[in-house]
Amino acid sequence: MRIDHRNPVHPTSAVRNLGILAHVDAGKTTVTERILYATGTTHKRGEVHDGTTVTDFDSQERDRGITIFAAAVSCAWDGHRVNLIDTPGHVDFADEVERSLRVLDGAVAVFDAVAGVEPQSESVWRQADRHGVPRIAFVNKLDRAGADLDTAVESIRRRLHPVPLVVQLPIGREDGFTGVVDLLRQRALTWTGDGGTAEVGPVPEALRDEAHRRRRLLEETVAELHPVALEEFCADGEVSARTLASALRELTRTGDGLVVLCGSAYRNRGIEPLLDAVVAYLPSPLDVPPVRGTFDGTECERRADPAAPFAALVFKVVAAATGRLTYLRVYSGTLRKGTEVRDAGAGRAERVARILRVHADRQSEVDTAVAGDIVAVAGPKAARAGATLCAREAPLLLEPPVVADPVVSVA
Ligand code: GDP
Repeated sequence: MRIDHRNPVHPTSAVRNLGILAHVDAGKTTVTERILYATGTTHKRGEVHDGTTVTDFDSQERDRGITIFAAAVSCAWDGHRVNLIDTPGHVDFADEVERSLRVLDGAVAVFDAVAGVEPQSESVWRQADRHGVPRIAFVNKLDRAGADLDTAVESIRRRLHPVPLVVQLPIGREDGFTGVVDLLRQRALTWTGDGGTAEVGPVPEALRDEAHRRRRLLEETVAELHPVALEEFCADGEVSARTLASALRELTRTGDGLVVLCGSAYRNRGIEPLLDAVVAYLPSPLDVPPVRGTFDGTECERRADPAAPFAALVFKVVAAATGRLTYLRVYSGTLRKGTEVRDAGAGRAERVARILRVHADRQSEVDTAVAGDIVAVAGPKAARAGATLCAREAPLLLEPPVVADPVVSVA
């Protein structure tokens, strides 16, 4: 078997289909860029102001300074494949937001540490609620004048009503923001200069009492929400970081609690702990409920099983100079290149000539895509965003047929 070391095969349990949700200007593009940088997907750090960012690839988008198109980019972190699905943050693109929310298994909600929750963050939050998307929060721009984590968390609690589970304590304020205390492991992560990988050290003396107090508060909140964890807490007296992390994972998946992290994306501080949290707390395609669909009026259900019949949802179609690329979320079964599939709504056959994994700086071709994965395919000529592609012998409709949905053109 050919092994492509730049494109290793990941088990479905190690896949995270992730979206970044934010109010325009909260820092979604910057967070995305820093994630791509941290995961080694891009080696040159893109900057929003010089128009070199990787996900904002369309010139219209660059001109307008807002993220319009949902591009999906695959990157790797700590033995996991993170498929980053860009969700449009602008209300004019509500359909596209809905569709991208549908193909995600989890999201990072980014908030501005000064502005807190803004009306648009509220509407995106409600949409994510409707789709049952598990979330963690990243309070960004902690370096800004007037930034305060506690105030931002209070605004999130008051406006969006989650139970916040704050897992970090900032070290330094505003311009002097240099790191965080990891409350689970009671250690300090500090950054200098351009940020990036943190230096790990003991909790600074001046913050030790506060870090202990916040850790106890976190334990108490978790114990109130999670009876099983409570029993374990009582049994071993002291709560281990591992016990606490597994309770946080469950509370994230049920939506009963909101894990909150913080940092400054612009200064590249807090991004690596955020990626650790994505992998630790957000679900894999195996952890989410099976997808539901219909055919001929009969409801059916499909699990993320590579051996089940193939079914995928088209969530984006991009007409690039090199040809038409159809972005899919595979919900069940295995897609092989060179095969014919059925567009269930249109009742048409489509040929999948090539399967591509899209990285920030390149594409790689793969022979198969399995349940849980997000890939782009070349070959389908007419399938539109919202279409279901499925095995010819096992048709399934995941969304009502789309009457008219624009094909996005990029130069
Ligand atoms: P988006 O509209 O949510 O995609 O936000 P952008 O990533 O484009 O960021 C909006 C503005 O906030 C840009 O000028 C960024 O440079 C700035 N910004 C992003 N993150 C930070 C941060 O951590 N600190 C500060 N001070 N500014 C930031």
